[in-house]
This record gives sequence, structure tokens and C-alpha cells, in this order.
Amino acid sequence: MSLIGTKCVQGGYTPKNGEPRQIPVIQSTTFKYDTSEDMGKLFDLEANGYFYTRLANPTSDYVAKKICEMEGGTAAMLTSSGMAASFLAVFNICSCGDHFISSSAIYGGTFNLFAVTLKRMGIEVTFVSPNATEEELNKCFKPNTKLVFGETVANPSLDVLDIEKFAKVAHENGVPLIIDNTFPTPVNCRPFEWGADIVTHATTKYMDGHGSAVGGAIVDSGKFNWTKYPEKFPGLCTPDESYHGITYTEQFGIEGAYITKAVAQLMRDLGVTPAPMNAFLLNLGLESLHVRIKKHCENGLALAKYLEANPKIAWVKYPGLDSSKDKALVDKYLPNGTCGVVSFGIVGGREAASKFMKSLKLIAIETHVADARSCCLHPATATHRQLSDAELESCGVSPDLIRMSFGLEDKEDLMADIEQALENV
Ligand SMILES: *Cc1c(COP(=O)(O)O)cnc(C)c1O
Repeated sequence: MSLIGTKCVQGGYTPKNGEPRQIPVIQSTTFKYDTSEDMGKLFDLEANGYFYTRLANPTSDYVAKKICEMEGGTAAMLTSSGMAASFLAVFNICSCGDHFISSSAIYGGTFNLFAVTLKRMGIEVTFVSPNATEEELNKCFKPNTKLVFGETVANPSLDVLDIEKFAKVAHENGVPLIIDNTFPTPVNCRPFEWGADIVTHATTKYMDGHGSAVGGAIVDSGKFNWTKYPEKFPGLCTPDESYHGITYTEQFGIEGAYITKAVAQLMRDLGVTPAPMNAFLLNLGLESLHVRIKKHCENGLALAKYLEANPKIAWVKYPGLDSSKDKALVDKYLPNGTCGVVSFGIVGGREAASKFMKSLKLIAIETHVADARSCCLHPATATHRQLSDAELESCGVSPDLIRMSFGLEDKEDLMADIEQALENV
């Protein structure tokens, strides 16, 4: 089994003779053992198995294994949300007093997590432009820098990251590159093939794809050699007193240390666990991801071209357009498509945008993207309504900006919906 579509359908779970064809939902908080010693071995991480769903559950593990195979990693875990995945991915190797570098073109929730909440925990971030040069990136490193973070295709700015460049600079400075690969999914881009070390996902988006279950995932490439920098990554390379003195890199190798630590310590203490039923729903989404993502991209590109040619539209941003500033990066990293999300501005600014949105019939107003059903958001009158035009501009959101996520409907109907709404403006 080698190609991505086959992994989407059959990865992670191979039933034995007489076992269920679909992955079973193990809706149980706990697991029964014959002796305390049996359970003790699991607690000590000496044997594989399940004892409590906060730490691990078979249904979630089948789905994590599928995502691991899709990304080409060595170990993976699911989390209760995409935010939880980003938090654990960073917090697993950053503690109070540490520093990391992040692209500034990232999801708003992640930006706030990094700039505000992690700061309160004593972890400092330096934001850099996704278009920063190697020299500019190198200047951001400090002795206590532990990682570099970015998004393949940023939500909502749609900037494309030069993964190879970011990975090179991170590695030259002895730290891993963590990539949030939510928008392309491993169907359209596998960051490990370009040097990234750890990948995170908001599975809430295209992976689920039906607006059913909030969730996240973390995948390790198993390539970053923590043991080369034991003083930088003591949590992985020195004994964990909270786990009977286990040294994760010694016991689980560089392929397994990072995820084992994240489960054994962070899931244990923070409990950002996915519900087994949500993992099952996510798997249903994954089974058709490779088929759906093509249609999202086809609709995204067709509608971006339609909008670009429309005189009532002031500007269009979509990485797949020939006019995109990121065209060369798209050709390199995303030759099969980018995503179904398009940003654009409407002639007439905030007022016109508001009227336009009200007139849409098929495309619904939601703070969501990557759903089977098309949806849109006008930040200036919704999520960012308390900001003035000047304040909006300063955070990269123009008053006329509309973010539209094209779903799986027929593109002719989506075009007709936009056309009739524009007539009302
Ligand atoms: C939505 C999103 C997140 C956060 O995911 P949740 O499941 O909503 O917590 C993180 N990163 C990206 C790129 C996203 O689009």
C-alpha cells in the first residue's frame, strides 16, 4: 500500500479474520486487567495496551495511525482540537524560559496562543514574515530557541510557506521545524518530504470535511535527532522523574520519543483527548479525503478566476491563481492544488460587503472553512467588528475582505449565487 488515496481509504486498520470491516468505536473510558502487575507494566510504559481513554483509546489510535501513514511519519496522536495539537506540539519541547520562532502568517487562534497564552507561561515567540530570507530568519535565533513553526498554506492569509528554506535554517540552528498542514492535507502536500520534522493538523477542517467533529493531530517524522542536542531538549534526552525515570529517546528511539512523551506527560496532565466517536467520524471523512479535496480545489480555482474577472470585485487572493505572488511556491509544493478557500475584496468596501453577504442564498455565513457546504465570513462586520478600518488594516484584514470557503457543490450554482448577490450591491 503506497499511494495516498489507498492510505486514505484503508490506512491504519487491517481487520483480521472475522473482525469488523469498519473500525470499531471503543466507547469505553477504561480497560479491564486480570492482575495489577499486568496494568503496572502499561503504566510503566513497559508493555503496549490501553488502560484509560484520557491517555489512549484503540479507535483514536487506528485513526492516528492512518494520518501517520498519510504523512509518512513514524508516530502520531489525535487531540481534542487543532488548537490542542498546536499547543502540545510546542509545549512538548518548550518550557518556561524558552523561545521559538513562528511565521506571522498563521491561524488567528494559534497567533493568540503563541503571543498571549504561551507568553503568560514564560515562553517567548518571535514572529517572522513567511517571506523572510535565510539571513532574516537566522537573525531571530537565540541560545534558548527550541523550534520554528509555520503553516503550509496559511489560514486566512493564504500565504504559502517555503518549507525547504525554513527547514534548512531550523536545522542549521539545531532545532526542528513544525508545520501546521491543515489546509493542503497530506493529499496535496507532505511537509516531511521537504524537511519538516513534525506536522500538526486541525482535523476539524478538510480531514473531517463535513463540519461534524472538532479535532487535531500531531505526527512525528522520526527524523529529528534530539540526542544531538541533549542540553536543548532535556525533556526528551534526560530521565523523566514523573515517569519512573524513563528517558524517552533511549526507550523509544528518535522515531517514538516525541509522541510518547506528548502522550505520557501532556495527555496525562492536560487531558485534551478526542472522544472515540469523534475519531470514528474523522475516519469517515478521511476515507474520501483524496476525492473531496480535488473538488474543493477545482471549485476554489474556478471561483477565484470568476471573481478575478468580475468588475465588481476589487481584488482576489488565491494561491492557485497565475497572478499569485506565491505562484513559484505553489508549483513546487502544491502542484495538485492548494485549497478551496479564496479571499477577495468587493468594490464599495465594508458597506458593500455586508450587503453582498446578506444576499447570498447557498453560501452560508459561518466562522468555519473546509466544509462540504460553502461558507463565508466578513471579518469587518463579524469576528473583527469592534475594530476601526485603520485597526483592521494593521492586522492584515482590509474592511472589504471576504473569506469564502468553497465546498463540494456544483460550481455553476456557486457562481450563480455570487452573481445574484452582487446584483444587490
Ligand atoms: C482551524 C485551525 C486551527 C485550530 O483548529 P480547531 O480544531 O478549531 O481548534 C489551527 N490551525 C489551522 C490552520 C486552522 O485552520
